[in-house]
Amino acid sequence: MAETVKRVYAFGKDADGNNVTEGNTSMKMVLGGKGANLAEMANIGLPVPPGFTITCQTCMEYANADNTWPEGALDTIREYREDLEARMGKRIGDAEDPLLVSVRSGAPMSMPGMMDTVLNLGLNDQSINGLIAQTENPRFAWDSYRRFIQMFSNVVMGLDGDLFENAITAMKNARGVASDTDLTAEDLQELVREFKDIFSENVLAADYPSLVVDGEVQFPQDPMVQLQLAIEAVFGSWNNPRATLYRKQNKIADDLGTAVNVQSMVFGNKGNTSATGVAFTRNPANGEAEFYGDYLVNAQGEDVVAGIRNTSPIAELKEVEGLEEAGLELEGIFTTLENHFRDMCDIEFTIEQGKLWMLQTRVGKRTAAAALHIAIEMEKEGLITKEEAVKRVDPEQLDQLLHPQFDKNATYDVLARGLNASPGAAVGEAVFSAADAVAAAEAGRKCVLVRWETNPDDLAGMIAAEGILTSHGGKTSHAAVIARGMGAPCVCGVESLKIDAEKKQAVVSGTDVVISEGDVVSIDGTSGIVVLGAVDLVMPELTGDLDTILEWADEFRTLGVRANADNPEDAALSRSFGAQGIGLCRTEHMFLGDRKQIIQTFILNEDEAVREKAVNDLFEAQTGDFYGMFKAMDGLPVIVRLLDPPLHEFLESPRALDVEIARMEATGADAAAVAEKRELMEKIDSFAEQNPMLGMRGCRLGIVYPILPVMQVRAIATAMAKLKKEGFDPKPEVMIPLVSVKAELEKLRGVAEKTIAEVEAEQGVTLEIPIGTMIELPRAAVTADDIAKHADFFSFGTNDLTQTTFGFSRDDVEGEFVPQYLAQHILPYNPFATIDRGVAKLVAMGVKLGHEGNPDLMCGVCGEHGGDPDSIHIFQECGVNYVSCSPYRVPIARLAAAQAALENK
Ligand code: PEP
Ligand code: MG
Repeated sequence: MAETVKRVYAFGKDADGNNVTEGNTSMKMVLGGKGANLAEMANIGLPVPPGFTITCQTCMEYANADNTWPEGALDTIREYREDLEARMGKRIGDAEDPLLVSVRSGAPMSMPGMMDTVLNLGLNDQSINGLIAQTENPRFAWDSYRRFIQMFSNVVMGLDGDLFENAITAMKNARGVASDTDLTAEDLQELVREFKDIFSENVLAADYPSLVVDGEVQFPQDPMVQLQLAIEAVFGSWNNPRATLYRKQNKIADDLGTAVNVQSMVFGNKGNTSATGVAFTRNPANGEAEFYGDYLVNAQGEDVVAGIRNTSPIAELKEVEGLEEAGLELEGIFTTLENHFRDMCDIEFTIEQGKLWMLQTRVGKRTAAAALHIAIEMEKEGLITKEEAVKRVDPEQLDQLLHPQFDKNATYDVLARGLNASPGAAVGEAVFSAADAVAAAEAGRKCVLVRWETNPDDLAGMIAAEGILTSHGGKTSHAAVIARGMGAPCVCGVESLKIDAEKKQAVVSGTDVVISEGDVVSIDGTSGIVVLGAVDLVMPELTGDLDTILEWADEFRTLGVRANADNPEDAALSRSFGAQGIGLCRTEHMFLGDRKQIIQTFILNEDEAVREKAVNDLFEAQTGDFYGMFKAMDGLPVIVRLLDPPLHEFLESPRALDVEIARMEATGADAAAVAEKRELMEKIDSFAEQNPMLGMRGCRLGIVYPILPVMQVRAIATAMAKLKKEGFDPKPEVMIPLVSVKAELEKLRGVAEKTIAEVEAEQGVTLEIPIGTMIELPRAAVTADDIAKHADFFSFGTNDLTQTTFGFSRDDVEGEFVPQYLAQHILPYNPFATIDRGVAKLVAMGVKLGHEGNPDLMCGVCGEHGGDPDSIHIFQECGVNYVSCSPYRVPIARLAAAQAALENK
């Protein structure tokens, strides 16, 4: 059957030097990022080794059909392979002049190091002779062959890499040499033999019957078999655990698949006029306009990122003898790429005997600081517009800038220095394996992951750790790239650290200091400093580039941004971050510490006088609280929500009391004291509910105990009156939680208005205090027209609205089934983190109906979703006036709101 879809796309030149590329940069969903940009580079005339790309869709079809090839796909690949051979004038596996290829993954979204690569494919017992003849370098040829068998066995067949490393070590010991580079061509030839034996002994005939020759599994000699197995392995690596985890972390869909790029090999390890490197067109750590990256002379691709040898800075490349021309050409290409992609690019290149080849480019990952700086600089350079600059910065990434830094006033001794690979500071216990990092985090202990160098298997530990510290690798090593992407602080390449992961310790050379597991260390990824012990950390302020981008964002956004805060310090902080008011002040947070005792007295005591005294004490305390809040937010609205949580949250746990009573009895405590405790326990027990979240909370509390809302509204009005008299401009608003029927609001609004009027009369000032409600129950959303008749504003409590719409307990969302739902794709994402489209429909309906009931109604969102960029885009569509979020997310929300507005323009 003829194929109806195009599965393979060629790139690069034909034998006559004509460009025969079939794709371009807009085809990332088909060709993956790497394939699309290889095509684009070829199209703009850059030197790209020819090859072809198998589409992401083929990968998914193969995976969805239980690893079975779609009809005709292998034939197409064969045709493209033959075409590539014709273009190169060489054949794969040829005994005279063989073509070698690399087989690399390349997903639509960059997933650095998460999937598989096979290099030097096409070598076999015949073509090795051709390679020796062509290069006149037997050592290089045998080294290439042993690398290929090693990589193929590990990546494609899943054999343990140690089997091969141990054989190399044994060979070095036998020859009495220290380094791989000291092994001779004969040694490497011997290793090839040993590697093939390891392959035969460890690959099961039952798994690969087609590899059995003369009753024994043999390393495949047929290049087409090698190629097919390698492509299948790359397809399979889309679903390996680390790639799956990375996608989850980075919200990348599981059904995109990876493309596979089959490309002619070029060699950076053909002597001293060959080199390989990775580079950025600007500094990805701070955004400065300088070429940035590392290279290694006489090395092959992965050596640079693997951090095995220490690299040299890219700026020096054009000064190295024999590499001058390629170095200069590379700098020219940096500029070409920036102008073409209008963004900072990240590049992989190889120089083979003086000739430069471009192996990859993509828009480069960068720290938040760099993202801001580059966007602003490129706007100044006229490369992009202000709108584009605002769209360029990932709001989530700003979180990095709001990360802790070492306190400038802190005193500490620098233990060691490394490269400042990813900014921000971290303090935690040293751990020496990813598993230990995960265990520490699960036990609630902060840790710093200390590794020689990280590899993709360390990902879970890198996520769990506060920061990452490595002794090897440059600024483009795995640890550095991943940490920057995650926004985790990272110091890498600390050469003075001699790490013994087995013993779980690191020795600092030149000192007698030993860092053992559990010792607290501090790292500063902004300066590259490592300290033994805990250094005080501080949060940075909004200045410089961040301030500029946020000011630009404010020019475009139509959504307001307020903060959820319940103390003057947080209120002031959110104001400094640009909050335009307080969207939610949760007053129950003011009832902690001594206050808890007072409210307990109120709840548990039946004596009216005692209760009244408790309420008076609370009134005094609350008046002070509100005074501080309104003053900090002078001139800006502060929405104070009346008491909301289930009453039992203020009481001791009956289970703890039960234990205490048992202990008192066992230790012969006074019988009267025991009886008193028991009475207390029974009383508390009488407040127990089966479903407290659906019980005595929110406005229901105020209806059953009207003395509480009266006290709170009185405190709000009194604080406001006091500030007005002092010349301030306080703007409190009263919010009634968990309303489901309009009568609840009507009643409590009446109570509040009466109380405000009383305070006005007592204080002799007029107090304009808007009164509104939260919309956090589906019934409220669908009857919003009625409810709005009694409300000056709505604030959508999307935490409870999600809980009550789904019937999922918000407190148990991390438990059993929601993670399962996510894993099984029953839910696309956690609806408590990003607003669900169904819940958002209730918000949109609430806004629309609300305006029917009250055309002047103000609508906001104060659930956790208010600080989530994806949710902000959805709220923009719902027609709310503002979002409200925790203080540190205010800058993120400002930027996300601007992007949402620009998207809808
Ligand atoms: C909500 O339910 O979304 C809300 C903001 O209130 P709380 O989280 O305090 O219940
Ligand atoms: Mg709520």
